[in-house]
Amino acid sequence: MNDKDIEQIVRDEIIKSILQTQEFLVVGNWKMNKTKHEVIAFLDAVANYDFGEKNTVVIAPPSPYLYLFEDRLRYSKILYGVQNFYPKENGSFTGEISFEMARDFGAKYAIIGHSERRMIFSECNAFVSKKVRSCIQNQILPILCIGENIDQRKSNDYKNFISEQITEGLSLISESDLNNVIIAYEPIWAIGTGETATPDQVEETHIFIRKFLMDKYGAQIGKDIPLLYGGSVNAANVKSLALAQSVSGFLIGGASLSAQTFIEINDILNGK
Ligand code: PEP
Repeated sequence: MNDKDIEQIVRDEIIKSILQTQEFLVVGNWKMNKTKHEVIAFLDAVANYDFGEKNTVVIAPPSPYLYLFEDRLRYSKILYGVQNFYPKENGSFTGEISFEMARDFGAKYAIIGHSERRMIFSECNAFVSKKVRSCIQNQILPILCIGENIDQRKSNDYKNFISEQITEGLSLISESDLNNVIIAYEPIWAIGTGETATPDQVEETHIFIRKFLMDKYGAQIGKDIPLLYGGSVNAANVKSLALAQSVSGFLIGGASLSAQTFIEINDILNGK
C-alpha cells in the first residue's frame, strides 16, 4: 500500500465518523408519482428498515396515499408529510386538501413554496407566507422552499432573490415560532435536471443564507433553523454534499422514488 492509499483510507475514516455523528433531516418528495401498488411495495421495503436514531427521515407522498403511510408506518421511524394544502380550515376550495385532513392521517410536515408550485401554479411569496403561518398554527412543520433560476444565478442576482423569498415567506411568523421552520434551498436549475449544484456552490449559498438568518432573526434562532439542500441529490453525490458546511439535510425528489436508493442514501448519511 502506498502513501496515497493510506491517506485515502484515513480521509474515508474521518468522513465516516463525521457522517456517523452529524444529524440530518432527509425528506423524500415523491411529487405526482407512483401507483397504489408501488406505494405498498415501497413501504413494505422500508417500514422495518433500521434508519438509526440520529437522523430524521420523512417522505411526502401524493395525498391520496397518506392513509397507507398511516397504516403501514405505524411502528416505523419514518415520518411523513404533504406536498401541498390550502391554508383554510374547510370550505369551497375545489380540489384542495386542508391541514386538518393532512393531520388526520398523521402528516407532520408540509412542503411549502416548492418551485414547481410557484411556477406551474403561480404561487407567490404572499400566498406561501399564509401557508407557512397555517402550518405553524396547526402543528405541522413547514419546509419552506427557496431557490433561484438559472438566469438569476448567472446574473449574480440570486442572493437578493432568495433573501426576499425568506423574508416574505416568514413574514407572518412570530420570532418564537421560527424554531419550527425548516428551509430548503433548491436552485431551480438543479431540480430534476441531473445538474447538481457543486458542494462549493451549496456551501457558499448555505453560508450566505445562514448569515442572512442570523442577521435578521438573531444569532441563536438563525443558527438553529435547519437548512436543507435539494436538487438532483442521489446516492453518488450525497456524501460530498453532506460535508458542505451548514447543510442540515436534503430534500430529494427523483432519487427518493426507489426504496433501494432511498435506503442507500440514508445509509450514507449514517456513515455506514
Ligand atoms: C425536489 O423535488 O424538491 C427535488 C429536489 O427534486 P430532484 O431531487 O429530483 O431534483
